[in-house]
Amino acid sequence: MSKERLYIFDTTLRDGAQTQGVDFSIDDKEKIASALDNLGVDYIEGGWPGANPTDTEFFQKKHNFKNSKLTCFGMTKRSGRSAENDTGLSALMNSNTPAVCLVGKTWDFHVDVALGITNEENLENIGESTKHFVKAKKEFLFDAEHFFDGYKANSKYALSCIKAAYDQGARWIVLCDTNGGTLPHEVSNIVSEVSKVVPGKNLGIHAHNDTGNAVANSLAAVLSGARQIQGTINGLGERCGNANLMSLIPTFFLKKDFSSKFEIGIKSNNIKNLTECSRLLDEILNRKPNQHLPYVGAAAFSHKGGLHVSAVQKDPKTYEHINPEDVGNTRNIVVSDQSGKSNIISRLKKYSN
Ligand SMILES: [Zn+2]
Repeated sequence: MSKERLYIFDTTLRDGAQTQGVDFSIDDKEKIASALDNLGVDYIEGGWPGANPTDTEFFQKKHNFKNSKLTCFGMTKRSGRSAENDTGLSALMNSNTPAVCLVGKTWDFHVDVALGITNEENLENIGESTKHFVKAKKEFLFDAEHFFDGYKANSKYALSCIKAAYDQGARWIVLCDTNGGTLPHEVSNIVSEVSKVVPGKNLGIHAHNDTGNAVANSLAAVLSGARQIQGTINGLGERCGNANLMSLIPTFFLKKDFSSKFEIGIKSNNIKNLTECSRLLDEILNRKPNQHLPYVGAAAFSHKGGLHVSAVQKDPKTYEHINPEDVGNTRNIVVSDQSGKSNIISRLKKYSN
């Protein structure tokens, strides 16, 4: 049986850039984009042209990515004007990217309180904006903002919002857990229900980590039918972060329940570049890497103390869930000296092949 394709969408340069203390320069953006393209993610969301000078400049540059589709981000048209006359949409059209992602409201509470328009007007704004870009032959993604909260409050309306985009030809309907409060079992139930209305092959998941479940929620969405997964390098993102692609990518690739059913666009040799990619972002941000990140952290395969070390030396499988070299990481044996300070006494060389 052939495997189903999962699509990886990176939003480090857009949603990740919303993080407190993060201010990417144009050079930073270029470096990160080129690392993501080399890694082989399917989509790179480069930012919001027209929202700030750096993002506008980034989209004015020519990008010849080998593997990734450059995507620009914006929001659905405003009420009271046509899609053709919306300056926000024009900035996106002029950025000449193959893919365009627009965020729109799907929670009736937000339509009323944040936008102050009627539910009908919001549906029209979603449909007309979608039509505008589909007509221009763009691959169109609709980011359904607050979808899970909206679904819980008024499922009929939330579904009619995503139908408004899907019926006009949106390639992807991305279900966003914008406030990050949804739990994995809720994601499973809701994505299963939604896939009866919009096919799973057209559904994406965009999870925030406010309950520490962004990765788990993304996996739950895939198991319930979603086929595009959005996230950032190291889970960078405002508040508690976005889903961490440095955990999701190796999980899809190395864990049997996923790897036996699904394939991703990233080549097996490139999985070994994940650790390097993770460290590159820290270097650009001038941050000390989080040693305890799953898969790619410096301590992810460090073993301290007698029993563990002696078992690992016999066979690393005793205390390791994967082979560290598979993700470009290293195995460390740590001992404490007399002062109690920990020292790494052996470090496997980086896998080279
Ligand atoms: Zn987000």
